[in-house]
Amino acid sequence: MLSTMQDDQLSLAHLLQYGARMHGDTEVATWTGSGSRRTTFGQVAKRAAQLAHALRELGVTDDQRVGTFMWNNAEHLECYLAVPAMGAVLHTLNIRLFPEQLTYVANHAEDHVVVVDGSLLPLFAKQLPEMKTVRHVIVANGDAAALEAPSGVTVHSYEELLAGRPETFDWPEIDERSAAAMCYTSGTTGDPKGVVYSHRSIWLHSMQICMTDMMRLTDSDRALVIVPMFHAMSWGMPYAAFMIGTSMVLPDRFLQPAPIAEILAAEKPTFAGAVPTIWQGLLQHLDANPQDISHLREVVVGGSAAPPAMMHAFEERYNVSVLHAWGMTETSPMGSVARPPSGATGEEAWRYRYTQGRFPALVKARLVDDEGNEVPWDGKSVGELEVKGPWITGSYYGGADPDKFHDGWLRTGDVGRITPDGYLTLTDRAKDVIKSGGEWISSVDLENAVMGHPAVAEAAVIGVPDEKWGERPLVAVVVREGEQVTAEELREFLRDKVAKWQLPENWTFVSEVPKTSVGKFDKKRLRAAHAEGKLDVAHL
Ligand code: AMP
Repeated sequence: MLSTMQDDQLSLAHLLQYGARMHGDTEVATWTGSGSRRTTFGQVAKRAAQLAHALRELGVTDDQRVGTFMWNNAEHLECYLAVPAMGAVLHTLNIRLFPEQLTYVANHAEDHVVVVDGSLLPLFAKQLPEMKTVRHVIVANGDAAALEAPSGVTVHSYEELLAGRPETFDWPEIDERSAAAMCYTSGTTGDPKGVVYSHRSIWLHSMQICMTDMMRLTDSDRALVIVPMFHAMSWGMPYAAFMIGTSMVLPDRFLQPAPIAEILAAEKPTFAGAVPTIWQGLLQHLDANPQDISHLREVVVGGSAAPPAMMHAFEERYNVSVLHAWGMTETSPMGSVARPPSGATGEEAWRYRYTQGRFPALVKARLVDDEGNEVPWDGKSVGELEVKGPWITGSYYGGADPDKFHDGWLRTGDVGRITPDGYLTLTDRAKDVIKSGGEWISSVDLENAVMGHPAVAEAAVIGVPDEKWGERPLVAVVVREGEQVTAEELREFLRDKVAKWQLPENWTFVSEVPKTSVGKFDKKRLRAAHAEGKLDVAHL
């Protein structure tokens, strides 16, 4: 028997209209470096309609991709709403990707239009000639004339394109399973892989993250959205805020500790989300320049493990509660949140809060050993985390990397244990990557780049703990017999091969890289040698 319930579709057009009507006066503040420029949900929705008209005129139909190469600001929010609501697909381009990866993802997604921040034009201009499907570039917050377009590409000014257009749009009916947005993840080896979110997955994710046991967002909150809108959909905060009426403070490109402290003082947000590196930097800044930040009722920290000392510092010195969360681009991204169960207090509550958290109702989880068998949730047995649910990807765009899925579950590449009451603690990573300041560095790509040097016989890269960035790469090099090379020379050699922020500063020279029984680099042994202080490391 079927239910009698209406099969009403969860669409982002409805989210846009709902937010504009119910929370029309709710504010969106974008930091300018000295104060904020302000708009409201109502205005954002009107401009989203104008943007949709403009995009239609530029030939955006059906599920065509519209890329964004933007900081967190009101214009990016307009794209977040307009593009999916008109039935097209928002593709958030990660501005920190290595240039070749950037052109790869724009070509792979077949972006037709890209909206670019004026401040990012120099970075974008270099790659534009390689972007084969881009026909229009729209420059927001900057001078469109500053971009020299290759033939076949037209450049527009965002404001001129919107001006005078109707402030309403006849938003189409959309199947809730259709694509709304996409984001590439460049974590593991090989080319970045596209994760495609649906209208339905975004709605369900937004509803759940507002819930009491997750972010607890309400219409009296003011959220400082630091986590980039180009990485993992800004943890879903823009859509959740629009749904629930949480006002937003968007930091634009001002992500250093001093401007973040200024934004806090000026805008007094009640809530914020960012990776540990941002919070660590802010903590140091505040310790040197004390400021009351107790208006923050809570901050979410995720993307990398939150150091307990930092959690205590915010709580004990600044009266700000830190909520640890785990997630992935593939999981929309909120996967688990570390709120202690009711009744846990004192030390016991802290032990829960250090974990990567408990899964919400719509995230199914299991741990699997090397043979593919499930291991128990006993708080001791370790396995690779696999997850399943309506906002967890079941494949990658174009069918890349089918090995990442196991009987319909996503293999996360994260290794850990789960307590009987469902709290996850990550202990290791099965994937060979380094997470530095919230962004990925592929160790294999670095190894290949270093091994391209004629004096290098072998190079293995591991992630080593770093106070500021969480992790940084350490390169272990075996020099070819009869050759000589220094760490400085190797770093120089990498300069045009990897992104600047990925250039390793930690180097060690070894007589051989330890190998597993099947001849692969044994990084566990290398990590252990480093942890025991057995490697002689040069820090450049
Ligand atoms: P991304 O898709 O770039 O957001 O990266 C997701 C990955 O970041 C996860 O699979 C983990 O390896 C790592 N990660 C995310 N949150 C945490 C956390 N709270 N603790 C440790 N690692 C994390």
